[in-house]
Amino acid sequence: MRAEIVSIGTELLLGEILDTNAQYLGSRLPALGIDLFYVSKVGDNRGRLAEVLGRAWERSDLVLATGGLGPTDDDLTREAIADVLREEAFVDATLEAELRQFFAGRGMTMPDRNVKQASLIPSARAISNPRGTAPGWWVERDGRVIVAMPGPPVEMHRMWEEEVAPELKRRHHGAVLVTRTLKTAGLGEAAVDELISPFSGSANPTIGVYARADGVHVRVAGKAPTEGEAMELIKPVEEDLRRALGPAIWGADENTLESAVGAILDERNLTLSTMESCTGGLLASTITDVPGSSRYFRGGLVSYATEAKIGWGVNEDVIAEHGVISSECAHEMARAARQQLESDIGVGVTGVAGPDLQDEKPPGTIHIAIESDSLGSQQVSYQFAQGREAVKRRAVTTSLVLLLRLLTSERR
Ligand code: ATP
Ligand code: MG
Repeated sequence: MRAEIVSIGTELLLGEILDTNAQYLGSRLPALGIDLFYVSKVGDNRGRLAEVLGRAWERSDLVLATGGLGPTDDDLTREAIADVLREEAFVDATLEAELRQFFAGRGMTMPDRNVKQASLIPSARAISNPRGTAPGWWVERDGRVIVAMPGPPVEMHRMWEEEVAPELKRRHHGAVLVTRTLKTAGLGEAAVDELISPFSGSANPTIGVYARADGVHVRVAGKAPTEGEAMELIKPVEEDLRRALGPAIWGADENTLESAVGAILDERNLTLSTMESCTGGLLASTITDVPGSSRYFRGGLVSYATEAKIGWGVNEDVIAEHGVISSECAHEMARAARQQLESDIGVGVTGVAGPDLQDEKPPGTIHIAIESDSLGSQQVSYQFAQGREAVKRRAVTTSLVLLLRLLTSERR
C-alpha cells in the first residue's frame, strides 16, 4: 500500500510550527506494512490544497491529511476534498446534533460557523473526535482512501491510535516491518561496526549502525507477514548482537540515557545530586524527566556566579589556583553538591557555553567530574564548538554517559 502524508496549515510553511504530525504518522506506518512515498506541506488555500490533495489521490492508495478541519474560514480541508472528488457536501443531521451536544456539555451555545464541521460528502464517513469539535473524515472511493484528521496533535494522536490505525491494520495483508534499536556508549561507530560484522550481512532482518548524540545505535529491522513473525526473526539476531557488544549496550528502543542511569541508581539504592554552572540546570531538568526520579535524585544546585560556588562549599583556593573553568573546579563542585545535598554521588559541570571567551577559555570548553565514595570518581574535559544550546545539550549527554560509565564500570 502506497501512502502519502499531507500536512495542512500556513503556519507550517512559515516555520512557525514544526510538522510533528508528519513525523508521528511516518514513524507509525512501517509497523502497519504501509510504504510512505511522499510528505507534502501546503497552506490554507483552497485551490492549492485541492491541487496537492488531487495529486496525492492520483498517485497514492492512502492519503493521510492533518489540519484544516476547524470551524473558521481558513479551515478548508473538507471543501478541498469535495473539490477533488467532485462531490457535494451536505450537513449530516446526526453529526450536527452531536456537535450541539458537545457545546451544550460545556455550557455553551454552538456558533453557526461550527455547523460546517458536521458536513460530509457521499464518499465520507465521520471519525469520532472526543477531544475536540472537529470529527475526522474517512473518505473511500475506487479502492482508495483519504483520511483527514484534526491538526492539534492531542486530537490527532487519539484519532490515529483508536480509530485509524486499527482500521488500517484490519485491512492490511502485506508484510510489516518491526525494528529493535540497541543503544551503546563508550564505543565509536567503527568499533561497533567491527564487533557486529559477523552478523551485518543479514538480508532479513537488516542491521544498521548509526552515530547519535547519546552514542552509537544498532538498529535491527525485520520484515514478515505479522508482527509476531517479524519479532521471531529479530530475536536470535538481537541475542548475537547483545553477546558481541556486551556491556557497551545501555538500553533499547525508547530508553534514554537518563532513564538508564535512573534505573541503575534506583536498583542499587544510590542517590545523586548535581552542581551545574554553564548548563544552568539542564542536567537536573533532564534527570527529572524520568518519572520516579525523586527516589534517587536529591537535587541540583545552579551555581552560575563564582560567589555562589564558594557559598555552596567549592574551595576558594582551588578557584584561585585553577579558575572556575577547570577540571579541578568541576571536582570541587561534584564534591560540594554531594556534601550539600547528602547524596552518594555528586556531578559537577563547568565550562563556557559561549559565544564569547570566558577567563580566556574558548566557547565549548567543558569540564565534568563525578565524585562518590564507593564507586570512585570520573572526569572528562573536552572542547566542542557549536551554538550555545548545543554546547549545553552535549554537556548534559556527556555527563549522563560518564555517570553510566561510573555505575557500570565494575561490571565490565
Ligand atoms: P482547529 O479546530 O484547532 O482549528 P484544525 O484541524 O483546523 O483544528 P489547524 O487549524 O490546521 O487544525 O491547526 C490547529 C493547530 O494544530 C495548529 O495551530 C498547531 O498548533 C497544530 N498543528 C496543526 N498541524 C500540525 C502539524 N502538522 N504538526 C504539528 N502541529 C500541528
Ligand atoms: Mg484550524
